[in-house]
Amino acid sequence: DQQESSKHSNGPTEDKSLIKAEGTINIILVGDSGTGKSNLFSRYFLNEFKEDFISTIGLDKQIKLINYKNHLYRVSINDTAGQERFRALPLKYFQNADGTLLLFDITNQESFDNVKSWMQDLQKNGKGKNHRIYLIGNKIDLSDRKINQDQAQTIAESLGLKYYEMSCKENINVNEVVSRLIVECINNLITETDNGFQLN
Ligand code: GDP
Ligand code: MG
Repeated sequence: DQQESSKHSNGPTEDKSLIKAEGTINIILVGDSGTGKSNLFSRYFLNEFKEDFISTIGLDKQIKLINYKNHLYRVSINDTAGQERFRALPLKYFQNADGTLLLFDITNQESFDNVKSWMQDLQKNGKGKNHRIYLIGNKIDLSDRKINQDQAQTIAESLGLKYYEMSCKENINVNEVVSRLIVECINNLITETDNGFQLN
């Protein structure tokens, strides 16, 4: 039920889609450096995985057109350029977010401990109750797990988040989770009425 369209902002297809789209959903990737944000980004858009540690992948924003219930939505997914290493993500990165994937690495205790402080940044600078946030335990292909599902689920519940696990390396649960977040954000944006859709 999803339809992909142009990726860069200078093609005629993109211009046309901008005119027709019912709304724009902004999704951001947050979490410690090394948790797999850039690989999630490249797995979702390019179906590629990189073994090397990449602080900047060269891409930081991709746009997809999603056809949902016969209406087009422009979905923008934003990766950091590595500033999270210095805890220096720009304010505007958070401010426009409708949805967030907050990642930790299930083999890295510190990345899990830092989830709470990432949540503080998101709560302080984000859109508030209209902001959908999923907690993501990444790298479930690895055997040296330090954080079990129950621990992560408990933290997620205490922070009011849904929890999902994935592997960007083995391509487990990546599309499913990103799609779910997109649909939730779209549903948040619209109210279905007898007359069709109305923008909130
Ligand atoms: P970022 O700093 O959050 O953007 O993380 P990167 O995407 O650059 O990934 C950091 C490191 O973790 C790289 O060496 C990746 O190859 C590795 N990595 C990312 N996702 C996975 C995964 O699902 N499984 C495994 N085993 N390694 C991963
Ligand atoms: Mg990165």
